[in-house]
Amino acid sequence: MSAFGFDHSYARELPGASVAWKPAPVPAPRLLFLNDALARELGLDLGALSPDAAAALFAGQDLPPGSRPIAQAYAGHQFGGFSPQLGDGRALLLGEIDRNGRRRDLAFKGSGRTPFSRGGDGKAAIGPMLREVLIGEAMHALGIPTTRALAVAATGEPVYRERPLPGAVLTRVAASHLRVGTFQFFASRGDLEALRRLVDYTIARHDPELAGTPDAPLALLRAVARRQAALIAQWMNVGFIHGVMNTDNMTISGETIDYGPCAFMEGYDPAAVFSSIDHGGRYAYGNQPNIARWNLARFAEALLPLLADADDEAAVQRVVAQAMEVIDAFPAWYEAELLRGQRAKLGLADAQEGDAALAADWLALLHAQRADFTLAWRALADAAEGREAPLRSLLAEPASADAWLARWRERSAHDAARLRAANPRIVPRNQRVEEALAAATEGDLAPFEQLLAALRKPFDDAPELAPYAEPAPAEITAGYQTFCGT
Ligand code: AMP
Ligand code: MG
Repeated sequence: MSAFGFDHSYARELPGASVAWKPAPVPAPRLLFLNDALARELGLDLGALSPDAAAALFAGQDLPPGSRPIAQAYAGHQFGGFSPQLGDGRALLLGEIDRNGRRRDLAFKGSGRTPFSRGGDGKAAIGPMLREVLIGEAMHALGIPTTRALAVAATGEPVYRERPLPGAVLTRVAASHLRVGTFQFFASRGDLEALRRLVDYTIARHDPELAGTPDAPLALLRAVARRQAALIAQWMNVGFIHGVMNTDNMTISGETIDYGPCAFMEGYDPAAVFSSIDHGGRYAYGNQPNIARWNLARFAEALLPLLADADDEAAVQRVVAQAMEVIDAFPAWYEAELLRGQRAKLGLADAQEGDAALAADWLALLHAQRADFTLAWRALADAAEGREAPLRSLLAEPASADAWLARWRERSAHDAARLRAANPRIVPRNQRVEEALAAATEGDLAPFEQLLAALRKPFDDAPELAPYAEPAPAEITAGYQTFCGT
């Protein structure tokens, strides 16, 4: 079998941060999805595997050679409330692969109970694991940092949710699985030595240029805040709603992780929220930058004990002020990233004073007119070519765009090709995703495969992709809900 060349730096360098564990045996592994391009990128020669061998491998039956699975410990704030011990309740890190100067984790999700499972069964159903494939590949194609699926294997075993569903194991590739919650785990236990080792490990892995700098934890906080500012801005500019931005779902790497109750917005509405359990709208579309800042404040709190002796009041005050400087800078960093993306989406080649207002007024127009977010941006490319009908057809009152379009034209000339390269035509439409996952659950993978192929070409104008570009009928969009605990 092909060599994976695994390293195990996490287990080696961070004792007490994980538990060695084995995936649960499963009755009848069957491969549902294999990401050939990603396998190649990782240098994995999976073509040599028979379908049965690949299925057994990615269901956790026959462990990949050299893997040493561990369940990682972490804590986290979930919907604002702190849980000191969450951890991999249904995931296992198999090892790390170094390739072309990038180190990446390979991990199972849905591979059975672990010491961190609490009440859960440690399992996952086919639908949610294939959702990770679809949304992860879509995000990747959109140029947004994300964890990605390498494979999904059906287990041949039912998992019990509201009804029995076919089970599956996902193999996930990530720059790392370090989360804000990993730091909170050690901070809440007062284990400063482990926390210090974790900071050193993280810096070596994600921010090597910071190694040895004075106040390294503070520098790490700043680096993570900058990455998150860029990431959340990208989410906002494609209408992505994560749905469960708990601190254990915020990565240190700046990649998007955990596609549970996530959704893409259709009609533009800052208050849009889809998750069935998000009653207060804590993780609503428009609240994501605030929540990112809140999560970063929790990250800062976890790091503070490393920066000042708790008994030295003056030192504590000084480092709290330094950390607050970073947290308070976050909104401006985010706004700058958002505007950078908006300029590209508006087809503006340079930066001018009124650009933020131009973008804000555009969004206000979309909101007032209940316009489809993705298609409205895309229609700017047509408008640049003198065809305004596609945009107007998206608006409740077609003439409402007149004044704004005039301003936009006055601001600069626009290149349609550049606009098309900045504004995707195809995003994972909730209805299409649900259809594909429902069919896959019934054993028909064709809609999933067709949707995946479309999502991998988000900027493509091919006529045959039209069904994937269309918004769902309003009556479906109105009641759309996503579910956690998948
Ligand atoms: P999530 O909100 O999906 O990021 O998960 C939060 C926590 O719940 C993590 O510690 C997961 O490992 C755990 N968890 C989620 N689903 C299950 C499950 N079916 N069995 C055991 N643990 C789970
Ligand atoms: Mg999670």
